[in-house]
Parts: sequence; structure tokens; C-alpha cells
Amino acid sequence: MLEAYSRAWTEIDYDAIRHNVKEVKKLVKNTKIMGIVKANAYGLGDVACAKALQKCGVDYFGVSSIDEALNLRNAGIQDNILILGYTPSMHFHYLHEQNIVQSLVSIEYARELNAYAKENDVKIRCHCKVDTGMCRTGIVYQEQDKHIEDIYEEYRLENLCVEGIFSHFPVSDCLDEDCTEFTKKQIQLFDEVIDLLKSQGIDPGIRHLQNSYGILNYPELEYEYCRPGLLYMGVTSDDHIKIKTNPDFIPIMSMYANVSLVKWIYPGQSVSYGRHFIAEKPTKVATMSIGYADGLPRLLSNQGFEVLVHGQRCKLIGNLCMDQCMIDVTEVEDVKEGDVVCIVGHQGNEVVTVDQISRMAKTINNETLTSISSRVPRLKVRS
Ligand SMILES: *Cc1c(COP(=O)(O)O)cnc(C)c1O
Repeated sequence: MLEAYSRAWTEIDYDAIRHNVKEVKKLVKNTKIMGIVKANAYGLGDVACAKALQKCGVDYFGVSSIDEALNLRNAGIQDNILILGYTPSMHFHYLHEQNIVQSLVSIEYARELNAYAKENDVKIRCHCKVDTGMCRTGIVYQEQDKHIEDIYEEYRLENLCVEGIFSHFPVSDCLDEDCTEFTKKQIQLFDEVIDLLKSQGIDPGIRHLQNSYGILNYPELEYEYCRPGLLYMGVTSDDHIKIKTNPDFIPIMSMYANVSLVKWIYPGQSVSYGRHFIAEKPTKVATMSIGYADGLPRLLSNQGFEVLVHGQRCKLIGNLCMDQCMIDVTEVEDVKEGDVVCIVGHQGNEVVTVDQISRMAKTINNETLTSISSRVPRLKVRS
């Protein structure tokens, strides 16, 4: 482990990405990976993650917005970049200047982008987004409402190079009969669109459909690309969700803070805002320098969440504060100011996982990771 940072920090093992990508490749053998590095790679560093992915042969990246795409370009990443979301018209010029691929969020949007491209005498690279059931972006192509003509039109717009097509799964993480039926229907609708395009003599371009759970539960699909985000971070959304396959991922992120103070309190004394913890016996309390403004969910307060000090499990007591929180270290010998508290990761023989935080905070790992705030340094470690 690196020398302790002054307050709270994460350590990120970007080398473990290689292992996680190998695990993904075992599942989707003939499908290339589009590395989703949106939201600063789920908070873990978009440029660092993209560079680690490049070393694994990943040559396509997905981001949510133009600023995220430019961030990769400014860091010297020259590969294909697809913007999964919406780019406002004031930023259209970046698309051709920086050779970025734009998702077509609707037919109206495609026409607007085409008009811009025509006016400026440029061609803009695009992927057609088909809404087979997410009802978020894309041209609707669902059992109840099939807009195939709009899809044809996108491919025929003169100043757009539509070189790929994709859709998105809302319930690929769920193995109930209803969910699998829904997902299989989506796959069927997606394939139907591809066949119809071909029947019109239109080349659909590269096809991609699977997000992380799409890879875990539908590894047999053989499109040109898949779009994992979470998986190369070495976690799933929730480790209690059953999956069909049995991959072995290494979580790349651990999180630490320092002990700032240790003191004994006596029966009847209370800890933190709201006085929700009241000592029943003499209790040794350590204050540590991390709080909800660092991204540790305030919902962990008073629920018995445990962190590690000297490799021993210690409960959070009282409400989490913005920049600090308190733990019961009665059973831990020789705790002192400056000691490192492990909030996520291994210490001694014990481990705390992001899943444990997410479950107690009633959320998914995606949110827990993206909530780690910008004031928490991301330190690069070798495993
Ligand atoms: C975020 C996102 C992904 C990646 O999702 P994971 O579940 O993290 O793999 C893939 N495709 C689209 C369209 C997304 O928005």
C-alpha cells in the first residue's frame, strides 16, 4: 500500500483491469469490447482506465457526453469514441473536429445534425440508437410501435456516416422468466431491424447490445462489440443478484482514511449529530477523516457498518458527518492518530466490499463508485 494520504483516499489497481478484461473475453469470445468510461469511468479515472483498456486491445470507448470525449482526446487517446448520450447543437463542431462518433437519439436529432453537417460541408460519424425497450433514447422499435422508416432515413442522411447500430437492456441483470422473456424479445427486435436494413441494401455497420449484465447473462450473443462498464472495475451492480456465468473479477478500487483522534468515552456519553449512539459501557472511539462529502453514504449511519483498523472489524457509531465519522475501536489495541482505516478493500485477513456499502445504502455499486467525490484522490497502485 502507498504511504497514507493526508485524509481520505482511494487506491486503484489499474493493472487488475487486465485480469477483468480477460474474464470478460472468456465469456464473449468473438465480440470486441467497447470500454465504457463515462462519468470519469464510474469515478475511477477515465484516462487511466482507458489507457489500461488500450493495453488489453480495447480500441473503442463509450462516454456519455462531449466533454468526456474531449477529455480523452486531450489526454492523447486517438481511438474511436462513441458518445452514448446527447450532444447539444452548440457543440456539434467538436464531433468532426475531434473525430468523435455521435449516437442518434431521435430522427429529429439526426436531421438536425445532418443539416448542420451539410451546411458546414462535413461528414459526421454516427451510430443509430434503437429503442427496443429502455424507452430512453433512440428510435422506437418495439412490438407496439415500430419506426423502421425512421431508421432507414437515418442511414440515408447524406452528411451522416451511420457506421454502427445499438440498443440497450433494462433488465439483463434479472433472470426471472418475465425479464428474460423481455430481454430475448429485445434481441429479436434488434435482429429484425438489422435484417430489414440488409433487405434494403443498407449496411448496418457494427452492432452492439450487451452491457455488463448482458455479457454475464447472454454471453452467447455474437455482435461485433459489447459495452461493459462496471465489469472491468471488477464488480457487478449487486453481488446478491444471481448471474448465469461464473467469472472471477478483481475489484480495482479500495478506499482508506486516517484516524485523527482516539479517546475513551463513558456510559451515557453520546456520539455525533442527533445523539443516536449513546455509550452503554466505556468505549474507545476513533474519529476518522472521511464523511458523506467524500461519497460515503450517510445512510451507513447507525446501521452497524464495519470498517477495518489493524485488520479488525470496527463499527461506525453515530451519524456520519460531512467530513468525519466515528468508529468503535474498543477491541483494537494501540490505535492511534495516523493509523489507516480501510473502508473498502483488504486489511489483514478481513475484507470490506463496495457491495457491503451499497447494500446498506440501498443502492447499487454503480452509484456508490460514481459518488466518490472529487476531493478524494485516486492513487494508482500496483497489486
Ligand atoms: C452505462 C452504459 C453501458 C455500460 O453499463 P454497465 O452496466 O456498467 O456495463 C452500456 N451501454 C450504455 C448505453 C450505457 O449507458
